[in-house]
Amino acid sequence: MSVPGLSINLATVRKQWNMREAAEACVRHGITAIAPWRDQVDAIGLDEAVRVVRDLGLQVTGLCRGGMFPAATAELRQAAIDDNLRAIDEAHALNADCLVLVVGGLPGTRDIEGARMMVQDGIEAIRAHAAQAAVKLAIEPLHPMYAADRSCVNTLQQALDMAGAIGPEIGVAIDTYHVWWEPGLADQIARAGHENRIFAHHICDWLVPTRDLLLDRGMMGDGVIDLAGFRAMIEKAGYHGPQEVEIFSAQDWWTRDGDEVLRICIERFQSLCAARQD
Ligand code: ZN
Repeated sequence: MSVPGLSINLATVRKQWNMREAAEACVRHGITAIAPWRDQVDAIGLDEAVRVVRDLGLQVTGLCRGGMFPAATAELRQAAIDDNLRAIDEAHALNADCLVLVVGGLPGTRDIEGARMMVQDGIEAIRAHAAQAAVKLAIEPLHPMYAADRSCVNTLQQALDMAGAIGPEIGVAIDTYHVWWEPGLADQIARAGHENRIFAHHICDWLVPTRDLLLDRGMMGDGVIDLAGFRAMIEKAGYHGPQEVEIFSAQDWWTRDGDEVLRICIERFQSLCAARQD
């Protein structure tokens, strides 16, 4: 039995399996889409990763991740750009729907606006290569608790403003975990759809309490996010692509049997994540 509309971001089972094992497990469970991280691709080699995707007939809903542009020196900024160019080539080889950009935080300064300019400059420096490779670039706004170290782009509105300033081909990855709280979210999701900038939709839940800033994301249904309402906004905006489960969970889901994790992902996806029309 297949599970249409569901993708598994392979970070969700990164402690249990390597990329091939995880992809084969997804297929075993009827899941037809995945999103690997670059370190997972590296671990088995790009050629093997491409074979896995091709042999199993999987859709790749995104490659995680490019970005991390701000840096203290011109050399380091160039190194970041070079690394992003390689990420674009990998995304192309994997036929990924997009390269997800986690854009980076402060480069050892207190100048967050300066960091945001470095992000914009960085994306502008790679956009031609991305276009040539037919790889879509998706800015993923991250919750503001990551503004210093992971992403100085923190709201969907801000991500859309930046995408708009760079060019019509730049899009966004909309992750429930990062933007569920954003004032005016419905308007921004509608805007993203209207501008054809929704390239990916990630899901998981926000736990109360959250015990770790990075590694305590919740399974859908275990937290406070209205996932069905969120999906309704996404579909109303014209995006009908897969929902990609992305859970980093050092104390819980990474300690469980991988097949159990996938089984529960499917159950929760089917019972809680279909768009509620109201
Ligand atoms: Zn995400």
